Amino acid sequence: MKVRAAVVGGGPAGLMAAEVLAAGGAAVHVFDAMPSVGRKFLLAGKGGLNLTHDEAASRFVSRYGHRQREVGALLDGFAAAQLRDWAAGLGIDTFVGSSGRVFPREMKAAPLLRAWLHRLRGQGVQFHMRHRCTGLDGAVLRFEAPLGPVDVHADVWVLALGGGSWPRLGSDGAWWPWLQQAGVALAPLRPANCGFEVEPGWSEHFASRHAGAPLKTVALHVPGTDWHQPGECVVTGYGIEGSLVYAASALLRERLDADGQATLHLDLLPAHALDRVQAELQRPRGTRSLSTHLKSRLGLSGVKAGLLHELLDQPTLADPVRLASAIKALPLRLRAPRPLAEAISSAGGVCFEALDERLMLRALPGLFCAGEMLDWEAPTGGYLLTAAMASGRVAGDGALAWLGERPAQ
Ligand SMILES: Cc1cc2nc3c(=O)[nH]c(=O)nc-3n(C[C@H](O)[C@H](O)[C@H](O)COP(=O)(O)OP(=O)(O)OC[C@H]3O[C@@H](n4cnc5c(N)ncnc54)[C@H](O)[C@@H]3O)c2cc1C
Repeated sequence: MKVRAAVVGGGPAGLMAAEVLAAGGAAVHVFDAMPSVGRKFLLAGKGGLNLTHDEAASRFVSRYGHRQREVGALLDGFAAAQLRDWAAGLGIDTFVGSSGRVFPREMKAAPLLRAWLHRLRGQGVQFHMRHRCTGLDGAVLRFEAPLGPVDVHADVWVLALGGGSWPRLGSDGAWWPWLQQAGVALAPLRPANCGFEVEPGWSEHFASRHAGAPLKTVALHVPGTDWHQPGECVVTGYGIEGSLVYAASALLRERLDADGQATLHLDLLPAHALDRVQAELQRPRGTRSLSTHLKSRLGLSGVKAGLLHELLDQPTLADPVRLASAIKALPLRLRAPRPLAEAISSAGGVCFEALDERLMLRALPGLFCAGEMLDWEAPTGGYLLTAAMASGRVAGDGALAWLGERPAQ
């Protein structure tokens, strides 16, 4: 099979690259391993599709941590405002939620994806589903297709194969060894926005009572850093997860990599100053149990009180000064992030040093890369989809320019 422009991976990054190529007049073929495109995008819409974030550009870009310079360049032409305009162009109105998160009015991904695919088909984009790419040989990519293996030759390729989280939705990171063999610099794929296992694990007693319990309005602090944020998380059978933990996950993972252990501090009462907590605990409790005292004086009960009993020794529980300090900074030792397959997103992937400014692989001219398969990470909050789509546009533009320099034979 010989085509002019091919995109492998029909997630938001690949579809965006296809859109740019088609708008530029290229005949585009999209290949995807799954029976339909955009499966992770649809899943992202289940709890409310957080498309992007409404905040100052400098703050937005800072979310990409070590890679803010590189991702910032990608966002130059397509950031939050442009993404909202683009969605409006598909008939999808968006709104800014109380936390600055931007959602489609209907919250779901399906209407947006439907409208998008309709427009892409109208632009002549052809979709080849159940085509799993199994390797590359220069400009020829091999696919396992329903009728057997197919070699596809294209004048230009955009690879938008995603990371390695939730592999059953199509992105399994199988591309990593092929690109490595082709001499492309890669960082290992790691879990990002993930849960963490606690050390030495919860007791049977605590896990059976509290696994699945939300820890509402706590604050998380990573000791030795200025990372401190209020929010919510969830106690699980293995440890802890949820949006607040995801937000700190890059930092916690780095600490685990460097030291083999990491500790976080939970403030169970972020709205109370330490001296108030101490004063309440020092009030006489008479014959009342500590649990009753914690509940009546500070409203601490359920999973929060359970954590104190789980993690603190008797002398600390018995001493109001030490107990107050622990309520404001309860140390939780972590031993490992949960596996990549369970994470919301991936860190690692194709290093920016392996790409030119148009996202073309220096080692493989004519092959562009986009989306989560690039070596950047960000917290949840719409930053993942924004960067995936922005990079798809840059790669699509680059691929179009490459084609322009090479007229069809
Ligand atoms: C539960 C969950 C909720 C999320 N919620 C949000 C959110 O609200 N906001 C946000 O910004 N982000 C969210 N994300 C993250 C976001 O969905 C991803 O970052 C985004 O989909 C990445 O886009 P992508 O195009 O790079 O990769 P993907 O969406 O992973 O798409 C890659 C495509 O490539 C295909 N593919 C992979 N390998 C091959 C192969 N060998 N051959 C052929 N095809 C292949 C896959 O089938 C897939 O269609 C969420 C993720 C999860 C798991």
